[in-house]
Amino acid sequence: MKRILVTGGAGFLGSHLCDLLLEEGNEVLCVDNLFTGRRKNIHHLLDNKNFEFFRHDVTMPLFVEVDEIYNLACPASPIHYQFDPVQTTKTSVIGAINMLGLAKRLKVRILQASTSEVYGDPEIHPQPESYKGSVSVTGPRACYDEGKRCAETLFFDYHRQNKLSIKVMRIFNTYGPRMNPFDGRVVSNFIVQALQGKDITIFGDGKQTRSFCYVDDLIQGMHKLMLSREGFTGPVNIGNPVEFTMMELAKNVLELTGSKSKLKFMPLPQDDPMQRKPVIDLAKKELEWEPKVQLKEGLDKTISYFEKTLTEMG
Ligand code: NAD
Ligand code: UDP
Repeated sequence: MKRILVTGGAGFLGSHLCDLLLEEGNEVLCVDNLFTGRRKNIHHLLDNKNFEFFRHDVTMPLFVEVDEIYNLACPASPIHYQFDPVQTTKTSVIGAINMLGLAKRLKVRILQASTSEVYGDPEIHPQPESYKGSVSVTGPRACYDEGKRCAETLFFDYHRQNKLSIKVMRIFNTYGPRMNPFDGRVVSNFIVQALQGKDITIFGDGKQTRSFCYVDDLIQGMHKLMLSREGFTGPVNIGNPVEFTMMELAKNVLELTGSKSKLKFMPLPQDDPMQRKPVIDLAKKELEWEPKVQLKEGLDKTISYFEKTLTEMG
């Protein structure tokens, strides 16, 4: 049994990771400031004697004793990370320094939840890990993109300077139950709009693409990366390489919900990437991982979750 720290553990991905680590018989210390995370996501774990929740901001030092660290704390949706952009950069950069300092003192392995946003609005398609990216330094997404890029730099400097065991994972768009229904991400937006009979908001002409990974696949990949051989640091892309336009996503959601909602075209947000699709050869080779859940199957499960959540909310 390991004692494992999950920062951002009350969030969408973090709460699923806590579930998996507990199922495997570990103790989990979930640290979260509940900025975008919700108690509801971890409510079912509060009675578990192997689970502990600690409300704390990772921009402040943390003194705990653990055997492994997953660093997920950071708002992930554009609406939330742009709400207080200075805090977003602090969370990525100071949060990484604090968690790396903790890992250094304890001499334990640490995994960073990085992002496909390090590739910015990519000129190369699909994106392999070797692509250095095309990120706007000054735009509205930079607080997130540059914060995550700097965090990756810190991870590799701690690895070189302090021989720290690191794992860096570049996560591509992920969806599933426990997404915040109102965090503005495209999958949750479209499903909630369809279920409520509201217009489906397509930004731009809807021809931009994303590759959507179901949460269970993503968490399996994250876990495999943490357990991968010493010396394999990443960065490694974890995502689903099947690419869809936002128009295709909207059509899928309308079909699966049986909704009569209309499409409403709205301006494309500044610096919105036009395409995104991971090359996952490295994950296949090193982690023997690839996603299994098809979009329609994952959307079905996510729709059921939102139906229940919206009913509970009244
Ligand atoms: P989320 O917003 O649901 O979860 C993030 C969690 O971090 C929340 O619980 C939030 O309260 C917490 N948090 C934020 N700032 C904090 C701080 N300063 N101190 C402590 N806790 C803090 O988002 P998510 O989708 O679960 O994302 C988890 C991680 O994965 C993030 O680091 C995100 O950048 C990364 N990621 C996610 C996706 C995706 O599609 N979901 C894609 C790329 C990268
Ligand atoms: N998008 C959209 N309608 C919405 C929300 C998002 O068309 O209601 C588009 C958005 O412009 C982007 C894509 O969907 O091109 C994915 O957006 P999301 O915020 O989910 O993630 P990210 O841009 O960070 O990949």
